[in-house]
Amino acid sequence: MSDAARSRASRARLEALGAAMRGTLVLPDHQGWGEASAAWNLAFVQRPAAVALPADVADVQLLMAAARDTGLGVTVQPGGHGPHGGDLHDCILVRTAAFDELTIDAAARTARVGAGVRWGRLLHELEGTGLVALAGSNPTINIAAFTLGGGHSSLGRSFGLAAHSLLALEMVAADGRALRVSGGDDDELLWALKGGGGQFGVVTALEFRLHPAPASGQLYGGKLTFPAAVASPVLRALADVAASAPEPLSISAVMMVLPDLPMVPEAFRGQSVVTVDIVSQLDRDATERVIEPIRSAGPVVADTVAPFGIGRLPEVFAEPVDPVPALEWSALMGPVTHIAVDALAAAFAEGAALGLSLLQIRPLGGALGRAVTPPAVAGVAGVLTAGALLGAAGFVFDPAMIPGIDAALQKVRDAAAPHAVRGRVVTFLAPGEDLGAAYGAPELARLRAVKERVDPEGMIRSNRPLPAA
Ligand SMILES: Cc1cc2nc3c(=O)[nH]c(=O)nc-3n(C[C@H](O)[C@H](O)[C@H](O)COP(=O)(O)OP(=O)(O)OC[C@H]3O[C@@H](n4cnc5c(N)ncnc54)[C@H](O)[C@@H]3O)c2cc1C
Repeated sequence: MSDAARSRASRARLEALGAAMRGTLVLPDHQGWGEASAAWNLAFVQRPAAVALPADVADVQLLMAAARDTGLGVTVQPGGHGPHGGDLHDCILVRTAAFDELTIDAAARTARVGAGVRWGRLLHELEGTGLVALAGSNPTINIAAFTLGGGHSSLGRSFGLAAHSLLALEMVAADGRALRVSGGDDDELLWALKGGGGQFGVVTALEFRLHPAPASGQLYGGKLTFPAAVASPVLRALADVAASAPEPLSISAVMMVLPDLPMVPEAFRGQSVVTVDIVSQLDRDATERVIEPIRSAGPVVADTVAPFGIGRLPEVFAEPVDPVPALEWSALMGPVTHIAVDALAAAFAEGAALGLSLLQIRPLGGALGRAVTPPAVAGVAGVLTAGALLGAAGFVFDPAMIPGIDAALQKVRDAAAPHAVRGRVVTFLAPGEDLGAAYGAPELARLRAVKERVDPEGMIRSNRPLPAA
């Protein structure tokens, strides 16, 4: 068959899929294509063969069959905070928004959510239940995407990675079978799904453990903002506090250039600042005693620290919720020392002049690094024995900024290199990186064996694929 004939046949098969689905199939010449095909991170242009918005499991099974018939891959992208980096021309891109079920079983301390549910909604629903969930810093992140990649939460020092709390998943496998994966039925697949990302099927629902909120029902914390001029003393204080902080207290720091936009108070527009984000399950007095060295490390120019309910957790971090174009980098580092934070502060100052927007230090510890018994509960995500998670990003407001941001990220990479340790959290891998950056040879071999068993033809394409053996 000629290329043109193959392309016509493929188009006809996709049109037949669109007609058969209860949900929607958007093709490149359809209205709304731009919005349907775009990732949250707008720095990456995507041109998939089609975008599918399945309404139910039967639709997912139909699209698997169509992908097989047309030789296309299937890739799920609920939001695209973590885009693939490629243009996806040989894939059907699946959006899971219609899978919006949400049930909280307060007595059993579990939640069941559809694969379209984002953290902000679940946190809101948890208000007043006396329970918390292991959400990340941004309310727009999809719970399934986050958990499949391990998922680092500011509550993780008490309760581990989000993947550790995963109890069961429902998914459609590449051969179209609808599976329920929980402990005891396919332990190896469950192990792989806990941190191995989206390569094993299209997940439609997941169930996970919730955790007790403090007896008062309230958390305590918020954001302390300092001028960038005191970044070094603030970060040194953060390092000292992090070394001995009790597990229920989590602190992280972000050096950032505030955008020159109306949403930022006028006095801070375009300014560099360092912020310290605090999330504590301790009460006000106990928390304030621990963070006092940070407060007194420099002039606090803005302070949102107060009691809050779990529904307002994302407000502590106050991250952008609208799509932004960004280039990113992350790493794990060993102990958070004064030498390390000074080097990072210097790299941020140099990088900011080149277009770097932020550099974040998230100290780890506690349950994040403690062995989980049996180890299968932790899944391939395992435990994080590193001292801190580092992340950096440059917002690409203009393509001309890209060389400067690349150079700035290289400066950060160089500053972090002497302090970096092996391993990564999969949710923080950058576009173009694969699981080889996160896991060692034994874990990769186990993941490949699972992939070979459930998707021998490699039809399901993850944003963070397995490297070639
Ligand atoms: C501002 C910001 C803050 C962040 N904060 C945190 C944080 O605190 N902690 C943290 O761990 N991460 C954090 N991240 C990283 C984030 O978790 C990843 O970008 C992750 O990819 C989730 O993004 P998303 O919900 O847009 O999912 P996408 O980027 O759209 O999806 C990521 C991948 O997950 C897989 N996937 C998703 N859904 C399914 C499904 N139903 N079936 C099969 N596979 C699926 C696919 O392989 C997909 O490519 C943050 C990212 C940003 C931009």
